[in-house]
Amino acid sequence: MATQSTFSFTNRFYNAIPEAYQHAAASVFADNHLVCINDTARNDLMICADHAKSENFLAMITGQQLPPNGFSAAQVYAGHQFGQYVPQLGDGRALNIGELKTDRGEYYELQLKGAGITPFSRHGDGRAVLRSTIREYLASEAMHQLDIPTTRALAITSTSEQVWREQAEPGAILTRFATSHIRFGHFEYFFHHNKKATLNKLADFCLTHYFPEQNKSDNPHLAMLQAIVERTARLIAKWQAVGFTHGVLNTDNMSILGLTIDYGPFGFLDTYQPSFISNTSDHTGRYAFEQQPSIGLWNLNALAYTFSTWLNTEQIRQALRHYEPVLVSHYNELMAQKLGFSQWRQSDTELIGQLLAIMAQQQADYTRVFRQLSYVDEHQTSFERCQALLDEFADQQPIEQWLNQYKTRLRDNPLARTERVIRQNQVNPKYILRNYLAQNAINSAYAGDYSEIARLQTILATPFDEQPRYNAYAKQAPQWGKELNISCSS
Ligand code: AMP
Ligand code: MG
Repeated sequence: MATQSTFSFTNRFYNAIPEAYQHAAASVFADNHLVCINDTARNDLMICADHAKSENFLAMITGQQLPPNGFSAAQVYAGHQFGQYVPQLGDGRALNIGELKTDRGEYYELQLKGAGITPFSRHGDGRAVLRSTIREYLASEAMHQLDIPTTRALAITSTSEQVWREQAEPGAILTRFATSHIRFGHFEYFFHHNKKATLNKLADFCLTHYFPEQNKSDNPHLAMLQAIVERTARLIAKWQAVGFTHGVLNTDNMSILGLTIDYGPFGFLDTYQPSFISNTSDHTGRYAFEQQPSIGLWNLNALAYTFSTWLNTEQIRQALRHYEPVLVSHYNELMAQKLGFSQWRQSDTELIGQLLAIMAQQQADYTRVFRQLSYVDEHQTSFERCQALLDEFADQQPIEQWLNQYKTRLRDNPLARTERVIRQNQVNPKYILRNYLAQNAINSAYAGDYSEIARLQTILATPFDEQPRYNAYAKQAPQWGKELNISCSS
């Protein structure tokens, strides 16, 4: 296990393209303390437990002391926000402090979110409130454990400052990490500012470090664009299958590695509602749950335009054409797994569509219904074993009819029932980060008790396990929890 003395920090992106950064120092915080640390992530980063308890570590993750060979700078990028091009955004409240190289040879960029103003803060205060750091901390790790590519969270620290939003709130810093935080907006910035040499360097950097396979192809830029298209398609298929709504799918919040990035007003579906809008500032529903697949393509178009530097129109079209088939086939594959089928068949589309329609009509709980499908016994005509599933629906007749079709399909499935149940429970989570659960953890934290954050983190670390002592956390959201307003103000 690495200790502080063997920490190896580098900054490959900064060294290659310093123009992508502006130096920015963290604010001085007189009184910091650790709110929570994620031991799974800490182990993955090979930071030893003792070091994570040290003053030096706290000073590093609050920006008060640079790591060895580290630095402190914000990245510049542009982006399309709600369809409008904004020529300069950048890290308004995220400081990059360096890239950690683990003994396994992996590189992770560390960012401190909420540590202070940067040259890109515009009218913002460079701060994050504890509430939003808790949401990102819990959600990103929950996504990681659900096998959905994402930036991750190492720790939350409190700055013991008051930050003004609609009211005074405690300020906090989220330490997050990812292989890279490069966004579609990075390409847009250098393209639209006519910084061709830098754009070339950016593409070369990405090819060398993140797309080495594509770099070997005859046309590396085309291969890289196609790979980004495919990664994005697969990511969004996973969101749709698990019921995740990002909430602010601007191109500056799209990762070229296909990671879920920048958790703001996100939401996991409680009741199945395809038009669900997780962000109360999104008045037109541009980023509603069901819009995500088409928004993914819209965003890829904005990225692909910057690739006109290297590719002709037909090549760009060729890369973009991969989006829909990859998304649809991955989604089908995931939904077939959720239903316990060894393989997806064309006719399953109708079966899945019917189930979703019944769920939408009756406002059934997305996660609970899928989790309970494994209890269906295809060899029994009665519904004895799936009473709990039926109870998820106010009117049970449509779902009973559907279950009869489902049983017929299951009887034609090569998997034995026991094997199917095991597989289904490995893909249908019992526990998700429902908004109200995050809110309960936030309320406790604002009252000075951080234990609920740790408890939720433990539960969400194994979302597919039964964990019977935590059954209450798998219940339907209470009405107040479905009506929470989550906006961009964080
Ligand atoms: P977001 O919608 O959170 O992805 O943020 C959009 C842009 O606003 C990014 O450039 C952020 O860095 C910036 N931003 C958001 N909140 C703040 C803040 N409190 N202070 C400074 N910049 C911010
Ligand atoms: Mg953002």
